[in-house]
Amino acid sequence: MNQPAALEGSTLFTDRSVVITGGGSGIGRATSVLLARRGARVVVADVDEAAARTTVDTITAGGGEAVAIRCDVSDPTDVQAMVDLAVSTYGSLDMAVNNAGIAHAPSDLHELAVEDFDRVIAVDLRGTFLCLRAEIAAMLTTGGGPIVNMASNAGTKNAPGMAGYTAAKHGVVGLTKNVALQYARRNIRVNAVCPGTVLTEGLAAYGADMQAHWSEMVPTGKLGTPEQVAEVVSFLLSDASAMMTGAMVLTDGGLMYA
Ligand code: NAD
Repeated sequence: MNQPAALEGSTLFTDRSVVITGGGSGIGRATSVLLARRGARVVVADVDEAAARTTVDTITAGGGEAVAIRCDVSDPTDVQAMVDLAVSTYGSLDMAVNNAGIAHAPSDLHELAVEDFDRVIAVDLRGTFLCLRAEIAAMLTTGGGPIVNMASNAGTKNAPGMAGYTAAKHGVVGLTKNVALQYARRNIRVNAVCPGTVLTEGLAAYGADMQAHWSEMVPTGKLGTPEQVAEVVSFLLSDASAMMTGAMVLTDGGLMYA
């Protein structure tokens, strides 16, 4: 990972626990690794338990602290178990990154399968609600903490052919604003990160031609990296962003205004 030297192995989050959903891949994995390097004790939660374990192995091999748990964020029992694991392992839940998300294949709305719409809403929107619900209940017992929800460029504008995903991510942004204000006096900050197109392994699999096509659509001419998004999450979890709550943080190379 290409991090500025001054931040490598910093103590920014020493002794602070964090849950990260979807931590087995892409942005969630990069965020898990980065926060651990900065001292956080990480609960890596993913519906793909093997993927979560691989992230934990990467963290512990680098001297960091992390545990893995299988968690489907659309299931309230799984989500509660994730929060309980953070509290039982590390003593409290201090920070949270609600990152797990899926998209449906591009489709005209009248041809979008009802099950595909339902699943995207269940994981991306209901999952974020369930995580916030369990995390905030735990944080209120120990004085609060910062939370980041992973929205999307599709939470701020239209994503062509992606009606369900656009609706779910607009919902995540709406939840973020509502919850931020509800808990603003109780030391819980909630912000949303809105990435544009980020070159994860999943996207890389589409090949060089598609990457070139996507890059062309971004004003900077470049796709984002998971590590760049992780840096924004790190900032929003840190005290450096103490004034920010309820914000939509565009992390999209200018795509919002293209
Ligand atoms: P990814 O597919 O690389 O990783 C997502 C992870 O979430 C996977 O490990 C997967 O197993 C896990 N997951 C899926 N369903 C789950 C569930 N029900 N419960 C728990 N875990 C589950 O994805 P990514 O590209 O890193 O995306 C992460 C987040 O960022 C998502 O919310 C996505 O919508 C958002 N995002 C991504 C991009 C992008 O270009 N990659 C752009 C905007 C927003």
